[in-house]
Amino acid sequence: MANITNCSKCIGKCCYKFASSSKKPQNCEYCEHNIIYHDINAIKNSDSYEALRIYIEPSEIIDGVYMGSILAALDEANLKNIGITHIVNCVGEFSYNFLNYRRIDGIKYLELDMGSSKKAVLGDHPGKTTKFIEDCIKNGGKILVHCKRGISRSGSIIIAYIMSAKNIPYQEAFDLVKRKRHVCKPNINLINQLESMYE
Ligand SMILES: [Zn+2]
Ligand SMILES: [Zn+2]
Repeated sequence: MANITNCSKCIGKCCYKFASSSKKPQNCEYCEHNIIYHDINAIKNSDSYEALRIYIEPSEIIDGVYMGSILAALDEANLKNIGITHIVNCVGEFSYNFLNYRRIDGIKYLELDMGSSKKAVLGDHPGKTTKFIEDCIKNGGKILVHCKRGISRSGSIIIAYIMSAKNIPYQEAFDLVKRKRHVCKPNINLINQLESMYE
């Protein structure tokens, strides 16, 4: 165990397990890096796991549609347990370059590059993602939409889907998502684009 690096930012170092920092619960007390850089098993073995659940476990927003962080997409056991068949990865290249991302056998992926979280744009992604989600649900599958932290980008993709599926305005779709995942908070650019989608 001694040489296992549990944090992908701590090259050659080891923080063994993850513990929430008292100042920033999403950061590791030992190495100070964000939870998303840590190994899923190290987090699960942490004493602070209960408080960390929201950053790891996906939230079911509507039937068969889940929203979560990148850690949710790396928790193979839980994905199999839920029965996830499709994944929308809103982090694109970044996930492979910095976050030890890997595709899980048997799951169908759609990868998007929406740009970094603060500057993320929706662009014409909803056309593709809404169809991908619809196809999954129609065939009895279950889908996880994830970004880095499961807060902004993944939320905007699910909101776009719900607006289209239910023909409702942004605020109504947002409220629905927020009730199921309280940390959901699309950035202002994404909100403006989502609002303009409804006429
Ligand atoms: Zn670290
Ligand atoms: Zn650490």
